[in-house]
Amino acid sequence: MDELDVILIGSGVMSANLGGLLKQLDPELRIELYEVTKELSQESSNGWNNAGTGHAGICEVAYTPDRGEDGEIKVDKAIEIFAEFEQTKQFWAYAVRTGMIDKPSEFINQVPHISFVYGQEQVDFLRSRYKGMSKHPFFSSMQYSEDPEQIRKWAPLLIEGRGDQPVAATFMEAGTDVNFGEVSRKLIHWLGEQGGCAYHVETRVTDLNRSNDGWEVTIKNMADGTIRQKRAKFVFIGAGGGSLPLLQKAGVDEIRGYGGFPIGGQWLICEKPEIVERHHAKVYGLSPGAAPTMAVPHLDSRVLEGKQALLFGPYAAWTTKFLHRGGSFFDLPGSIKFHNWLTLLKVGISNLPLVGYLIQQGLQSMNTRLKELRNFYPDAKAEDWKLIDAGIRVQAIKKEDGDAGIVHFGTEVVTSEDRSISALLGASPGASVCVNIVLEVARKCFGELFAKEDVQKKLLEMIPTLDVHSTTNSEKIAAFEKDSLSAEEALSLRK
Ligand SMILES: Cc1cc2nc3c(=O)[nH]c(=O)nc-3n(C[C@H](O)[C@H](O)[C@H](O)COP(=O)(O)OP(=O)(O)OC[C@H]3O[C@@H](n4cnc5c(N)ncnc54)[C@H](O)[C@@H]3O)c2cc1C
Repeated sequence: MDELDVILIGSGVMSANLGGLLKQLDPELRIELYEVTKELSQESSNGWNNAGTGHAGICEVAYTPDRGEDGEIKVDKAIEIFAEFEQTKQFWAYAVRTGMIDKPSEFINQVPHISFVYGQEQVDFLRSRYKGMSKHPFFSSMQYSEDPEQIRKWAPLLIEGRGDQPVAATFMEAGTDVNFGEVSRKLIHWLGEQGGCAYHVETRVTDLNRSNDGWEVTIKNMADGTIRQKRAKFVFIGAGGGSLPLLQKAGVDEIRGYGGFPIGGQWLICEKPEIVERHHAKVYGLSPGAAPTMAVPHLDSRVLEGKQALLFGPYAAWTTKFLHRGGSFFDLPGSIKFHNWLTLLKVGISNLPLVGYLIQQGLQSMNTRLKELRNFYPDAKAEDWKLIDAGIRVQAIKKEDGDAGIVHFGTEVVTSEDRSISALLGASPGASVCVNIVLEVARKCFGELFAKEDVQKKLLEMIPTLDVHSTTNSEKIAAFEKDSLSAEEALSLRK
């Protein structure tokens, strides 16, 4: 039986970045990655299945919902996400500079990020958010306007055909559109070329059992049905919606009480060049009613497979599948176990508005969807748009002390006590902060490696902004800006 150091399950952005980082930090590691589909990175990380927003806290108004004691919007979360996305950019820039991956414009492009609101209450909210954000050096180049003519200059489709209700927008040039699937494929191809490493597609992980010093993993070749066993000291379950069932199979205690709650997604897409060419921005609005944060509507410029398109959505949809491609309608019922059924039931009861919202979203007509689009683009015509499927997010449901259990819209990292297996549940803010997330996994599970001085040095060489979180210290900010500029140059975001 093959003896490995690391097994990565799934070829999404999480496994790809963890594999790349670990192999850079310890070139001796023997790493294998298994992916059930025929091609790499076809689930949530696939460019069409997510919005491709490089979430940096710039435009996502849903990340800053609360007001502080002074009545102003609290912006700490936006600052935190900005610093975390910077870590992702830094690592990818390092990967480009050192030849691990190439052609950055195939996976990351500069697209302005706009927050757009309408109606007096929303305008007051955005003004307060801007006041807080623009005080921090990360967002010092952010512009704010309540003038429709200025907003028209930034994004004409938002204003044309609109009545005279109050509107407001913030604008930042330095946003990004990311094809997370493409960057994952590039990193995995690199990993596969390294000594002691390989990746295998059409290979499903069907079981995990503890072995003497790690895990015995059963893999099934989907093309010929053969079954093999592999052994590794550490397993990372980066299987997206497939992670919960695999963790349950592994039987780690830490998964007790966890459940999964799938939320499907759909986009309206427009590929008409005369419309697409008139909108060059990612425009995020405020969440309608009971919509969860990840279902906040946005009108996005996308660059996918060399083509430009406009996507609007996502519309949430009710589903019982955990995976878009390889999933089954039995995924949700199959994940209900003795230790989590009560949590799931209580979550269902205590989140009735969310359940109602999902059912209403799934049943809505094309006309209702267009009505929502016209809140952003008043002149939108039905014939220019068609509905397509997006990915599925399986939200982690967790039993909290004495509580009914809550739906976690963030990302949950579940690691066994002996640190031999780690998995990701949940999906937000997701792919953009993948480097920060997988570093948390790596630090926890490879303590000895991270204690080495040369490894720490290498880590800072790869991600120089690693220690900058929310500082306003002018020296640190100057260094941050220099590193950020250099990463943007490497990623061809600044010409
Ligand atoms: C509608 C939508 C919009 C989003 N928008 C954004 C956005 O704008 N910005 C952002 O940063 N994030 C966004 N996200 C979140 C982001 O897409 C995810 O956080 C990220 O792609 C998750 O990556 P992953 O590697 O964990 O999982 P995935 O990309 O889903 O990869 C998991 C892989 O594991 C494989 N797999 C599953 N089970 C097995 C098994 N048993 N054996 C072998 N392989 C298996 C799957 O086939 C898949 O390839 C969005 C998500 C959705 C659904």
